[in-house]
Amino acid sequence: MAAAPTLTDLLVIGGGPAGLSAATMFARTLRPGVLYDSGVYRNAPAKESHTIPGFDGADPAAYRSKAAADLARYTNIEVRKGKIVNLVRDDKGFTATDADGRVTTARKVVLATGVKDNLPPIPGLAAQWGRRALHCIFCHGTETANARMGFLLTPPAEGKVPNAVIVGMILSVWAAIPYPAKYLFTHGMDTSTEQGAKDAGIWGLEDVLSMRGFTVVNDKIERIEDTGDSLSVEFGSREAVPVANLLVVPDSSEPNGDAKAWLTEGLLGGAIGFGGALPPIGPDAPPAAMPPRGGVDPRTPTPGLFWAGNAGSPACNVAMAASHGQVAAAVAAHEIGSEDVATAKVVIPKMHAAMGRRH
Ligand SMILES: Cc1cc2nc3c(=O)[nH]c(=O)nc-3n(C[C@H](O)[C@H](O)[C@H](O)COP(=O)(O)OP(=O)(O)OC[C@H]3O[C@@H](n4cnc5c(N)ncnc54)[C@H](O)[C@@H]3O)c2cc1C
Repeated sequence: MAAAPTLTDLLVIGGGPAGLSAATMFARTLRPGVLYDSGVYRNAPAKESHTIPGFDGADPAAYRSKAAADLARYTNIEVRKGKIVNLVRDDKGFTATDADGRVTTARKVVLATGVKDNLPPIPGLAAQWGRRALHCIFCHGTETANARMGFLLTPPAEGKVPNAVIVGMILSVWAAIPYPAKYLFTHGMDTSTEQGAKDAGIWGLEDVLSMRGFTVVNDKIERIEDTGDSLSVEFGSREAVPVANLLVVPDSSEPNGDAKAWLTEGLLGGAIGFGGALPPIGPDAPPAAMPPRGGVDPRTPTPGLFWAGNAGSPACNVAMAASHGQVAAAVAAHEIGSEDVATAKVVIPKMHAAMGRRH
């Protein structure tokens, strides 16, 4: 039998950096809150994470454990391991149902549900994700120095990051890392033709790439083999190329599979955007009740529904996700308190009138 429904002020869906941070921020108000965590974290394949102040080089799970332990000190926030399977908005606020049928009614909701990455469908690649197949210099780049490096480009398609952007990034932020050899794999795009070079995003950059020591390999990749201490990039048309690491930008990302079904346009007040991002509130919206100066606007078009972390900003890292969580919780807390003041301004005169008192 499902537990009795819970009434709470804030429901945070997601127990990654964004959700844990939102719940901790809200905990400080001593208002009641509930956090749900279904345990599907984007950086789970990585054994080390970087750029998190105080946790640089630590296992991503260590950061989450510490944040969860800190949150557990606040008894006004209930943390539940479980999956929300439905979320609807009604005139009371939001009603969420978990996989066990347990219902939670909340005045405000923070969606910190994250995203899922869809990798290029090259056999053997998925097994390397977060290990030797790396997407981000800030997360993993430093550790790739002084070993053979590959950079993967795949044919353009709708919803993908343009190759020109990826090549621009390779030539800018990756430029200072020393490699004994570096390969640009274009996975079948023939960069000897204008169209192929444009598709691969290297048009006009051929000389720069050559001077910087890149070898461009146009052959289509058949599979990626793990050879123990490195990767072998295998082709049907030429000999394999060994590399220690491979930069791979996902073909796309989309909302976390645990949330995708109920993140509907009706609930969100807009469509899911590039990279699986929840719709932001429009530029014409009135300012948030407590706009954090210089910070992001955590509102979605649906009143009372906020985003934090990758759910609304798919490219953000852990520290940024944590900061979004704080902003969302602060604005939610301010909205709740302000609504209570507005209600009191209506209710108190009525009470006084009923008691025959004048103002
Ligand atoms: C391989 C890899 C390595 C990375 N390395 C780094 C790094 O070194 N440094 C860095 O700063 N960033 C790194 N990142 C980025 C990092 O993963 C994200 O910035 C971070 O995970 C975003 O946090 P989040 O809380 O938004 O989402 P997530 O961490 O993905 O958390 C999402 C949460 O939502 C929950 N959830 C979703 N749906 C439901 C539901 N229906 N019910 C209940 N719970 C639900 C999930 O279970 C999970 O708890 C890396 C990413 C990848 C892919």
